[in-house]
Amino acid sequence: MADVQDELAALPGVTVLIHDDRCAAEERRLRRRGTIAAPTTRLHINERVCEGCGDCQRVSTCLSLEPVDTPYGDKTRIHQSSCNLDFSCANGDCPSFVRVIPGTKADHVVPDLPVALVDPVVIVNETDTTIRMTGVGGTGVVTVSRIIQMAARLDGRAASGLDQTGLAQKGGPVISDVRIADHELSTAPKASEHMIDLVLGFDLLGVLTPSVADKLTSDRTIAVLNMDTTPTHDQLMRKGPATPNATHVHELIEPLTRAAHNVYLNALDIAEAVVGDHLAANLVLFGAAFQAGCIPLSAAAIERAITLNGTAVATNITAFNWGRAAVIAPDAVAAATAPTIPTVATPRQHPAVLEAVRASAIPPALQGLVTERANELVAYQSASYATSFVGAVDAVARALFASGGSGTEDLLSAYIAGAFKFRAYKDEYEVARLHRDPVEQAKIEREFGKGAKAAVLLHPPILKSLGMKRKLEFGSLARPTFAVLSAMRRLRGTAFDPFGHTAMRRAERALIDRYDRLVLDAVAQLRPENLATVGALVALADDVRGYEDVKLANIARFDEHASDLRIALEASSVPNPA
Ligand code: SF4
Repeated sequence: MADVQDELAALPGVTVLIHDDRCAAEERRLRRRGTIAAPTTRLHINERVCEGCGDCQRVSTCLSLEPVDTPYGDKTRIHQSSCNLDFSCANGDCPSFVRVIPGTKADHVVPDLPVALVDPVVIVNETDTTIRMTGVGGTGVVTVSRIIQMAARLDGRAASGLDQTGLAQKGGPVISDVRIADHELSTAPKASEHMIDLVLGFDLLGVLTPSVADKLTSDRTIAVLNMDTTPTHDQLMRKGPATPNATHVHELIEPLTRAAHNVYLNALDIAEAVVGDHLAANLVLFGAAFQAGCIPLSAAAIERAITLNGTAVATNITAFNWGRAAVIAPDAVAAATAPTIPTVATPRQHPAVLEAVRASAIPPALQGLVTERANELVAYQSASYATSFVGAVDAVARALFASGGSGTEDLLSAYIAGAFKFRAYKDEYEVARLHRDPVEQAKIEREFGKGAKAAVLLHPPILKSLGMKRKLEFGSLARPTFAVLSAMRRLRGTAFDPFGHTAMRRAERALIDRYDRLVLDAVAQLRPENLATVGALVALADDVRGYEDVKLANIARFDEHASDLRIALEASSVPNPA
C-alpha cells in the first residue's frame, strides 16, 4: 500500500487510490463474534530485547503497540486484545519479536471482591447532575453513557446524552455528556462552564485539553480519573509530549475541582487483573465514580441497565463492582490486583560488584541502582566488565562532587542509565541471552497459556547480506543454539568474536568511551547556569535506540546533538567581558 501511495504521489496532477478492503477494526469485531476465523498465531515482543525505538510503530502505524515503562527504560508492548493480527509490526529490523502459538489458557478466574460493598453517600447535586466523560473511540465511552441514561429511567429519573464522537473510530477522542434530572429535559445536555458535576476521565489527556479543563469548577466538579493512559500516535512514535505523571496531574486538576473528593485510579490495571479485558476499564472507573457519590442512581438500576445492554454482562458488572471496591478499600484492591510476575529478573549479587560499589564515592541513594546494573553486566559479560562500569560511575560521581554543583544526583542517575545502556549493547550473544530470560518466558505463558509455543523471529545480518529478505523463525529446536550463543559472550570484543567486526558492533563499542569522555568533559565545566545544557548532554544516551540502520541513524544524531551541546557549553564557559 505504501509503495502504491509513493508511486501515485510521484505522478503529476491528481491521482485517486480506491482501497476496497474491510477496515481492521471491523475485522477485529467480527473475529470477536466468531463470524470470521482468527489467525492461529500471535506476536509478542520480548521487552528485554526491545529498545523502545518506535520503529515497529513507524513500519506498521499500529495503535496496538504501546509504550511500557520498565526498569530498563520505556519499551514497546503489543496490546493483544486490540491487536488487528496483521503482524506488520514485525517487518522492521528488530530481533524482539516472538511468534506464539497460544497454549491452553486456564479460564480466567475472577477473584472474590476483597471488601463488602456499601451504598454510597451522594455528594453531587442530586436533582440535576451533569457528567462529562472523556475517552478514546472503540473503548466503550458511549456504552457507559447509554447505561447511565437507561439506569436513570429505571430509577424514574429523566436523562439525556450527547456524544461528540467525530471520526472516533479506534483511537480517536470522544466526549460524551450526560445529564440526569428530576424534571423533564428539553435541551441537549452539552456541558457548559460551571455546569459539570463529574468529569469522568477514561482518558486522562482528554480531561487535560483546554476545551474540557476550562469548564471545570472548583466549587462544583469532582474528577474521577483513570491514571492508566492510552498513548497518542505521537507518543507511540516517541515524538509527542509524554503524558504528565501523577503528581503533575494532581497539580493541574486539583485547583479546577473539588480536590478533596477526586478519585485517581489505575482502572486499566484493575480491569485486566480482574476480568482479563482492558475494555472493562471504563466500567471500573464508572463503578469508582458511583461509589464516590458522584452518580445519583441506584446500584440495582445500574446493574439492570448493564444487563439490558446485553454485551459482556457478567464482565461489566464485575468491573463496575471492583471499581466500587477500589474506592471503599483501595489498598485491598491494589493488593488483589498486583502483578504476579516480576517485570524483570533480579540478577545475582556478585561480591566483586558489592565491594566496588562500597569503595566508591557513589551517593547511597544511587548505590542500589548501580549495584543492580553492575550485577546485570556480570551476566552480560563478566565481573571485571561490571566493576569497570562501577569505576566509570565512581569517576563521574567524584567529578560531580568536585564541581560542587546542584542537581548532581539527577545528572549521575542519567549517566548511570546511559553508561549501562551503551555497555550492554545488544549483539547476537545478548539477544540470545535475553530470549532465554525466565521472566520473559513466564510472561509468554501467562499471556498465551500453558504450553504456548514460541519462535523468535530473526533476520541474521549474514543472511541479510546474502539477500535473504524475510525473518527466520527460531523455535524450540533452536533453543540449544541460543544457549551456546549466550555462553559464547566471553568472545565479545575479542579478535575471535565472529560478530564483532561489523560496522554496527564497532560503532557500539566506540560509543562507550566517547560517551564517558563527553560526560566527564561536560561535568568539568558544570556551573549552575549551564546545568540544563550538561543535563541535556548526559541524557542524549537515551535517544540511541533500536537495531541496525535505525540505531546507526540514532548514533549519528547523538553525535550531531553532542557537538551542538559542547559548543553551547564552551560558549557558556567563556567569561563575560567586564
Ligand atoms: S526495538 Fe524498536 S522496533 Fe523493536 S520492538 Fe522495540 S520499539 Fe519495536
